[in-house]
Amino acid sequence: MKCSTCNEKKPQIKRPKTGKPSCLDCFFEAFENEIHHTIITNKLFNREERVCIGASGGKDSTVLAYVMNLLNKKYDYGLNLFLLSVDEGITGYRDDSLETVKQNRDDYGLPLEIVSYRDLYGWTMDEIVKLIGLTNNCTFCGVFRRQALERGANLLKADKIVTGHNADDIAETVLMNLLRGDYHRLTKSVDIISGRDSNMPRVKPFKYTYEKEIVMYAYHKKLVYFSTECIYSPNAYRGFVREMIKDLEAQRPSSIIDIIHSGEKFEIDRNASSAKEQIKKNCTKCGLISSNNICKACSLLEKLSKMKAKKVIEYEEVKTLDKENETGKKVVKIEI
Ligand code: SF4
Ligand code: ZN
Ligand code: ZN
Repeated sequence: MKCSTCNEKKPQIKRPKTGKPSCLDCFFEAFENEIHHTIITNKLFNREERVCIGASGGKDSTVLAYVMNLLNKKYDYGLNLFLLSVDEGITGYRDDSLETVKQNRDDYGLPLEIVSYRDLYGWTMDEIVKLIGLTNNCTFCGVFRRQALERGANLLKADKIVTGHNADDIAETVLMNLLRGDYHRLTKSVDIISGRDSNMPRVKPFKYTYEKEIVMYAYHKKLVYFSTECIYSPNAYRGFVREMIKDLEAQRPSSIIDIIHSGEKFEIDRNASSAKEQIKKNCTKCGLISSNNICKACSLLEKLSKMKAKKVIEYEEVKTLDKENETGKKVVKIEI
């Protein structure tokens, strides 16, 4: 059997996207060319732009950094590329994955900036989880990360952030929003450029790139990436939808792209009140763009401060009762 593209070499893989046998060179070329095509047809970048690559050390952002660096040189995009990482303060997870990002920095010769929750918000995720437990931690983390990336990109005077969201991630988000009835977010989740109205747009060149192909590319290119799951990852709902898509994909390999295309065709009834566009303003606390007077990150920070203060008061009360009445109540230790 021969490679279905060059019809010369022996095939080494079966491309998940096409199901056809391919040699490695043809696979690499097709993979890179498809991303280049997505970048060009969607006009994702302009010459001379300063572009931050959101780098977590995982497979998606490692391949993104590699391919962006390669295409920028090969097709002379004329971009200034940077790596930007967020340190959430998760011991045993992010500290290790940041070592991988540093390796990427050295391997690809790209400048790296790391912004941390500790410096930006005065909290680490370890401290937040200690205070609130494992129920809503990803909501806090997601809101903070989004803003941290924006603040880091502002520090680097960037024009854009590029993220490694792949086709599988986007299909999951489409289905999750559909299942929740959140059609406003559903239509936004397929945008290849989000935050056009903000001062820091985010672009997704992997919008049509399958996760399986990213893993295959990283593996055969021998790229170094970090593959451990976050220790605070309880995102059960997304996990459930992910499994559902995997089952669908097994039956019909084009399911992922089909879901994305369906999301693209969705149109919002602009008269429906919940679908109305929210007016953007500046957060009265941090000054960043927000849909409310206080942005999500600042209101979550207020919530954390209140929860911490409440715990301290409870602690003081229990301590006093303990001393005066010898109630024998367990003393809550505050180490935050
Ligand atoms: Fe943050 Fe949750 Fe992701 Fe962990 S799994 S990095 S806590 S969003
Ligand atoms: Zn070939
Ligand atoms: Zn704010």
